[in-house]
Amino acid sequence: MQQLKGQSALVTGANSGIGKAVAESLASAGANVVINYVSDPDSAQQMVTNIKAAGGNAIAIKADVSKEDQVHDMFQKMFDTFGTIDILVNNAGIQKDSPFVDMTLDQWMAVINVNLTGYFLCAREAAREFLRRGIVKDRSVAAGKIICMSSVHERIPWAGHVNYASSKGGIMMFSKSLSQELAPHHIRVNAIGPGAIRTPINKSAWDTQESLDRLLTLIPYGRIGEPEDIGKAAVWLASDESDYVNGITLFVDGGMLLYPGFSTNG
Ligand code: NAD
Repeated sequence: MQQLKGQSALVTGANSGIGKAVAESLASAGANVVINYVSDPDSAQQMVTNIKAAGGNAIAIKADVSKEDQVHDMFQKMFDTFGTIDILVNNAGIQKDSPFVDMTLDQWMAVINVNLTGYFLCAREAAREFLRRGIVKDRSVAAGKIICMSSVHERIPWAGHVNYASSKGGIMMFSKSLSQELAPHHIRVNAIGPGAIRTPINKSAWDTQESLDRLLTLIPYGRIGEPEDIGKAAVWLASDESDYVNGITLFVDGGMLLYPGFSTNG
């Protein structure tokens, strides 16, 4: 079933981990997809080749999402190729972990610049185009959809990762405030809150049996998440199936937010 047929989507940080699975899932659902990347052009190009071989449509565009001019140029290239944008997935994110008292301003700013300012810059370009174009009924009942990749750490405090957790708490309020502002224009803004998903960003948490066993004590469902778990949630949030869903964070976390420490009576 191609729920997104004829729509055009941009996924930031799309040549790795969650972004890769989201881009591939959107393409399978019929969307034309922009694979945004900042490094490793070969993997981005390989994704384009694979999506086209499977009958889909994709292009790769290099841009650092924290740079205003690069974001602007990326959207222009997308509009030149696909004409417009229907779906933005703000996904690019980084961690620069440090004990708080040793955290440098560079570590703080790097995370805020990509994880928060990058979301602002991309969402602003998308929202301007949604408002300019309005609803195109044979594609979607909404004028546009924005999905922000948050984290369970928009809720769960995370010692040693104060910059990252602050960025995710910021993304939560960014998504909700933007949703409130744009809903009257039939633009939907939602977030996804992944739990522990098997990607390069958290490799040390799952690449040995010992670390995986420790991680699983935090996950009631008893398995680590796979990027495809997030891809499926993104397709649903981007489609008209979720048309009445506005300003939520959809947690996809195997129950990580269920206070697993209390499962044996605290
Ligand atoms: P990842 O490291 O595999 O992917 C991150 C992507 O962002 C990479 O492709 C990277 O090149 C890109 N990126 C980094 N800086 C960029 C920039 N300035 N401009 C454009 N792209 C840039 O990690 P992932 O786990 O796939 O992370 C994707 C998102 O999911 C992040 O926002 C992360 O915080 C979030 N998340 C991940 C998990 C998890 O368990 N893996 C859990 C919760 C949230």
